[in-house]
Amino acid sequence: MSEGMNKNLMEKIVSLCKRRGFIFQSSEIYGGLESTWDYGPLGVELKRNVKQAWWSSIVYERGDMEGLDAAILMHPSTWIASGHLEGFSDLLTDCKSCKKRFRLDQLKENKCPECGGALTEARKFNLMFKTHIGAVESQKNVVHLRPETAQGIFVNFENVLTTSRRKLPFGIAQTGKAFRNEITTGNFTFRSREFEQMEIEYFVKPGTDEEWYRKWIDERLYWYVRFGIKRDNLKLREHTKEELAHYAKACTDIEYRFPMGWSELEGIANRTDFDLKAHSKLSGKDLSYFEEGTKERFVPYVIEPSGGVDRAVLAFLIDSYREEVVKKEKRVVLGLHKTLAPIKAAILPLLKNRDEIVTMAKGITKDLSKSFNVRYDDTASIGRLYRRQDEIGTPFCITVDVESISDKKVTVRDRDTMQQDRVSIDSVKEYLDKKLTG
Ligand code: ATP
Repeated sequence: MSEGMNKNLMEKIVSLCKRRGFIFQSSEIYGGLESTWDYGPLGVELKRNVKQAWWSSIVYERGDMEGLDAAILMHPSTWIASGHLEGFSDLLTDCKSCKKRFRLDQLKENKCPECGGALTEARKFNLMFKTHIGAVESQKNVVHLRPETAQGIFVNFENVLTTSRRKLPFGIAQTGKAFRNEITTGNFTFRSREFEQMEIEYFVKPGTDEEWYRKWIDERLYWYVRFGIKRDNLKLREHTKEELAHYAKACTDIEYRFPMGWSELEGIANRTDFDLKAHSKLSGKDLSYFEEGTKERFVPYVIEPSGGVDRAVLAFLIDSYREEVVKKEKRVVLGLHKTLAPIKAAILPLLKNRDEIVTMAKGITKDLSKSFNVRYDDTASIGRLYRRQDEIGTPFCITVDVESISDKKVTVRDRDTMQQDRVSIDSVKEYLDKKLTG
């Protein structure tokens, strides 16, 4: 794909998201707040489905994981121990003429990339958002919005271990909001200031960490493929020694071929025993593990697969978007995986002025809504209704027509093949069940 076409693709996705209610700019009526986004009626469903697909495959299917939902605000010592207060910063420089601010590591030359002006000396800029807890604003009650969900897991390691009676290796999974005062933003939701993460901390015996690191890279890569991303649009990129974060022994990014170029979707890091040791030291609480078989005591190593929900949603949208020509007409389709599709089936009456048809279609909608997210729609002609559902990725359209009244059957149209099956009303639920989970 050429660069022009790629740029065009991002524009098409942004426009579709706004037009159909997937993603809106935050506080749009006030002109918007830069790099924050709101998920609309379809976006919230897609996002929930992405998180649920992740949660099911990690927490339910593996058998060696526990879930957690830790608070966003944490004790200030957390960020001292984790190194974020000291180290979670970018080096920034300002242009003396146009006053724009840049990240030093993203500049190719020592001058302003916009106007060529001279730059100020670089300064450290902490990416954590600061606020105050309680009624008085003072240096003593400063707290930060978490810049990653991971630390909520580390500080609960002992709680989860003792209450779940787990043995190593085992992991803790969590999804939740994280906040970073990013300087270079843009590319739609790719780099936001408020975003959601899906993080796993997997605790292993030191010495087995490299093997688990490799296994997790593989498992996480194929999770994206399982839910519809084309393998060719994913690649692995191992960090060089210079790039590694202060806590990591190794790190590999899963990159996606976004329209603006290959960019990080998820990182898998070998965080060693850095975090547990640091929290042990500062809190005075022993976070070591006793292995009964060998009578050994040690601090576990941690493998961390850390993905962004918003980046995953964006990648699923981009990867599933296609345009086709059917009967000389353009058809836009979001070929989303059925598990991720916001609406599973649309129920459409062929004639909206025939009471029996409308009543039947509404009855089917009511029945199916107990099992799936379905929608009734009679606001346009059938061709138009099909196109609307294709564009938002609805896998099935169920049409009620005149014959349905006598034969008690409906037509079910498949989004991808456009094939139509005649199915008896009694067995529509079973039909969808099979198709959606098969
Ligand atoms: P980048 O290099 O793109 O800034 P990072 O390496 O700092 O990302 P991590 O700290 O590894 O990111 O965070 C884990 C995951 O959280 C990332 O892979 C990404 O999916 C997501 N993420 C991080 N920062 C943002 C952001 N500003 N907006 C949206 N998602 C983000």
